[in-house]
Amino acid sequence: MRAAIIRQHGGLDAIAVEEVPDPVRRPGETLVRVRAVALNHMDLWARKGLPGFQFPLPLIPGCDIAGVVQESGDGGLEPGTDVFLSPGVSCGVCIDCSSGRDNLCSRYGILGETQNGGCAELIAVPDRNVHRKPPRLDFPAAAAFPLTFLTAWHMLVTRARIAPGQTVLIHAAGSGVSSAAIQIATLYGARVFATAGSPEKCARAEAMGATKAIDYTKEPDWSRRFFELTEKRGVDIVFDHVGKAVFEGSLRLLRTGGTFVTCGATSGSDVTLPLRRLFFKNLSVVGSTMGTRGELLQIAEHLQAGRLEPMVDRTFPLSDISAAHAALESRETFGKIVVTL
Ligand SMILES: [Zn+2]
Repeated sequence: MRAAIIRQHGGLDAIAVEEVPDPVRRPGETLVRVRAVALNHMDLWARKGLPGFQFPLPLIPGCDIAGVVQESGDGGLEPGTDVFLSPGVSCGVCIDCSSGRDNLCSRYGILGETQNGGCAELIAVPDRNVHRKPPRLDFPAAAAFPLTFLTAWHMLVTRARIAPGQTVLIHAAGSGVSSAAIQIATLYGARVFATAGSPEKCARAEAMGATKAIDYTKEPDWSRRFFELTEKRGVDIVFDHVGKAVFEGSLRLLRTGGTFVTCGATSGSDVTLPLRRLFFKNLSVVGSTMGTRGELLQIAEHLQAGRLEPMVDRTFPLSDISAAHAALESRETFGKIVVTL
């Protein structure tokens, strides 16, 4: 089969399409013919390398995958079924897996990060990772949603327990995870505020449902602005993956009983947490990574019903994998870069 492979970390030339042996389906696995695979920042880290993390090279990247079942065993879906894949791989038998918290499994891994992913014509994955594609979505749209929507859903719904009527601030609204968060918060009947890095991204956030988006690069006092906009009540939830640059302002903006939920720290990870503010205001600071397969299936139902929409910026053929990486790296995209096969 043809596959995009990273043999050594490096620049855009460190990923190339090669002819490699087909994956062999083991018992309990399904072989899927890949039709679309969406890129994430993880694909860039896999290519460039990430300090403190050892990728298993050579590696086929790509965790957001949609395709057609090619071959399956007793527990799998029929060959010919249109599917999307769960990006998280877990043991399936431990206490956490058995309790539906597969993302907490001590053997949890992610396709394209800890094992070969979907930037290839074929991929073999555990049967439980294979789900029927929502028929309303085409293959690029079905590949565009799992990682971002799952991450945002787990943060808002499971970890921060979003409720109707709450006010939510979503940082870095131009990103895939935050765009998904705006949609999910709106679906839950929350009032949404957002920060973004340019006037265009602010306009898009407002078009997607944010009441007001502020360009934090031009308004360093965004925290006070939002405080005024909430009639000095503050917000119930701050949704973040920026980290250090926005932590203090976010904590100040949280109302009593509020929750700061984070899945990343692109501006820096070491912050100062004033405990007095934490206990007097009954605040929660909550971490989150990925989400469960059950949550992913819930999201798929909302997508099928048209209550959530994946966002595809543009598609590239597999042969243009380097150009697809370059497009993602430019940060001028809004929505996913999807590689089609
Ligand atoms: Zn497990």
